[in-house]
Amino acid sequence: MPGILVILDGLGGRPTDLEGATCLERASTPVLDALAARGALGLMDPVAPGVRPGSDTAHLSIFGYDPFQVYTGRGAFEALGIGMDVRGGDVCLRANFATVEERDGDLIVLDRRAGRLPDGKPFEEVLNGISLEEFGLELAFRASTEHRGALLLRGEGASAAVTDTDPHEVGARVAEAQAKDGRALRMAEAINAFTRRAHEALRDHPLNRDRERRGEPPANAVLLRGAAVMPHLEPITAEYGIRGACIAGGALYKGVARLAGLAVRDVPGASGDLQTDLGAKARAALSALEGAELVFVHIKGTDNAAHDRNAQAKRAFIERVDREFFAPIASALSWDRVHLCVSGDHTTPPAVGEHTADPVPVLFVGSAVRPDRVRAFGERSAGEGGLGRFSGRLVPQLLGYCDLGPKFGA
Ligand code: ZN
Ligand code: ZN
Repeated sequence: MPGILVILDGLGGRPTDLEGATCLERASTPVLDALAARGALGLMDPVAPGVRPGSDTAHLSIFGYDPFQVYTGRGAFEALGIGMDVRGGDVCLRANFATVEERDGDLIVLDRRAGRLPDGKPFEEVLNGISLEEFGLELAFRASTEHRGALLLRGEGASAAVTDTDPHEVGARVAEAQAKDGRALRMAEAINAFTRRAHEALRDHPLNRDRERRGEPPANAVLLRGAAVMPHLEPITAEYGIRGACIAGGALYKGVARLAGLAVRDVPGASGDLQTDLGAKARAALSALEGAELVFVHIKGTDNAAHDRNAQAKRAFIERVDREFFAPIASALSWDRVHLCVSGDHTTPPAVGEHTADPVPVLFVGSAVRPDRVRAFGERSAGEGGLGRFSGRLVPQLLGYCDLGPKFGA
């Protein structure tokens, strides 16, 4: 029997969000309420009580990993989030385009953000043309927003035990990366070679010549910081002996799902924002259920509206999810054939505009789920549900209801 997990990013809210209630409580959600009446509810601390989660650590925890064990720092997960193909063992560094000046062989930082460069994409090609072959390393560079980007290094000698090249202050010299242990010596050399070669490639780039002609600071250097290694995660699909599928718009969620062993399905119109095609996602989820025991669906818009502090937009989006995603799912599926879990990865109250540590509502539906008396899907009703309060591990619980879990012990 298959299971489907639907995560509405930043779903949870606070009673201060919308006239004394949360956006979910204020939203009209007849389909989710009918599912709540059939199933059981509870509250989940995404990572642990009192921990304010990022979307990355929350998803690791929801999939059953211990983020305190496997989360190695933002760098590697940010690289996932901007769509890089990050694999276990890869080392990622956060990157800034900067403006530097050569003085007596040193590079002096004039602007750590190259005048808030609007877009680093046009510089990707020359940076990806840099070779670090003599260090046994493959390289990939990806620009993200404004002056930001990420550098990925893959190979035998890749190590995160290196210091930053970003001096974090204007007027300072671009720092030499130093090895923090004996095994990272070649990695530090490789990073320093990258810094020199990136400066040479960017210095004479026609777009920088244009910037200088317009009186703008050239993006003629890349500053690196926060080296982090992507952990080798044991794929849950291997652990459970199942096939998994992921339907998501946002790159971070596709990346975490891929690391967990799920096959990422491309869904045209799944944009990872408030305009996403929810009907297309529902159809993709239904078709994925034919060939997989675990289907993970991620819907991002709830979190976007909450970060924008727009409680009405969050409420309206939840109503659209109920109508355009859950209505076709509920009418197509038979609850003695499949189990469903609906939750969020953390609370993002529009009144705060950021993630908070408050628990999120959880709903399980299916023949193995013991129904409780709750008849509405919301934060307060979930607190009265039969599942009580627990931390993370939604995927193991869902697969447990589906009788797919391995036995721990004799
Ligand atoms: Zn999130
Ligand atoms: Zn967020």
